Amino acid sequence: MSDDRAERIAEFIEPLRVAPGSTVRLERDFDPREKAGLKKRKAADLLRTGVELLAEYQSRLAAQDTYGVLLCLQALDAGGKDGTIRHVMSGVNPQGVRVSSFKVPSSEELDHDYLWRYAGRLPARGEIAIFNRSHYEEVLVVRVHTENLVRQKLPDSARGSGVWKRRYREINDWERYLVDNGFKVVKIFLNLSKEEQRARFLKRIDLPEKNWKFSAADVRERRHWAEYQRAFSKMLSATSTEWAPWYVVPADRKWFARLCTAAILAHTLMDIDPQYPQMPEAARKELLVAKRGLEREAPTGMPADPYAARHPSGRDARTSGRRAGKKKRG
Ligand code: ATP
Ligand code: MG
Repeated sequence: MSDDRAERIAEFIEPLRVAPGSTVRLERDFDPREKAGLKKRKAADLLRTGVELLAEYQSRLAAQDTYGVLLCLQALDAGGKDGTIRHVMSGVNPQGVRVSSFKVPSSEELDHDYLWRYAGRLPARGEIAIFNRSHYEEVLVVRVHTENLVRQKLPDSARGSGVWKRRYREINDWERYLVDNGFKVVKIFLNLSKEEQRARFLKRIDLPEKNWKFSAADVRERRHWAEYQRAFSKMLSATSTEWAPWYVVPADRKWFARLCTAAILAHTLMDIDPQYPQMPEAARKELLVAKRGLEREAPTGMPADPYAARHPSGRDARTSGRRAGKKKRG
């Protein structure tokens, strides 16, 4: 990856980043219809390149086995989280990715501290974990519908005034702990307009094959639009940090949201810049001994090393190239 490309990705995502310490007012500061002057077709080409890039970096991340990445995806209903995950992760090895969706907490989950269920789904080193909804629900839906807080069986001291401020601090501290220990945390809010949400709900009703996606509960939740915008604005202001920034991605155009998400994830991985492990000299010697042994097993008429024979100018060819049947050692 050339520095030039890395720089262009960084420039592309910069306007989406919530500057730590800034005060966000969503409607004023971020336009859900933004598309950075791009056309859909051009964006599709760029996304393809982005997906290839992610595949390459994920493979290096897994091989290096030192860092992990946590991507938190938040959105209002019909914001496009599922489709974004599907498209952005389409090229990566499924063994290196773990997607967790967080719904209304179970009674077992409510019996623990509020971060417990998220901690159980964190990435291992070498992995990318995606949270489809995340610990941020604890300061969003729980804040908009405070009956959720009551269900959490908290002691009085943990639910009185100042609870949200304290949760922001706890979340920031938790994320800092993860980052300090090799787990990058990146957070994306898919910012949908109220009108686009209406249009998507209607489409789910109009098209029979989309009916299953429609939920009357989502329409009821829409009545709390303004409260959610306020809760999101406060959360973005309080929890976009130097170590775990928030990005507000314009989500009215699905193709643009997917491209931005791929770019943000690529940027995160490029920042880690994971490397394939280098073999120590002693281990490399062992490889060469094994190589000689395997070459001696070549049946008559077959190349000693079929790979090296097909790639005569390759690095491996320099250590091989002998043919079975000729000068074969006993
Ligand atoms: P989709 O509708 O695309 O399947 P979704 O993420 O909306 O995806 P749902 O099962 O429809 O999934 O909704 C999950 C619900 O769980 C949301 O309404 C969300 O607000 C709620 N939820 C998530 N976390 C919590 C929490 N900690 N406390 C209370 N409710 C929560
Ligand atoms: Mg839903």
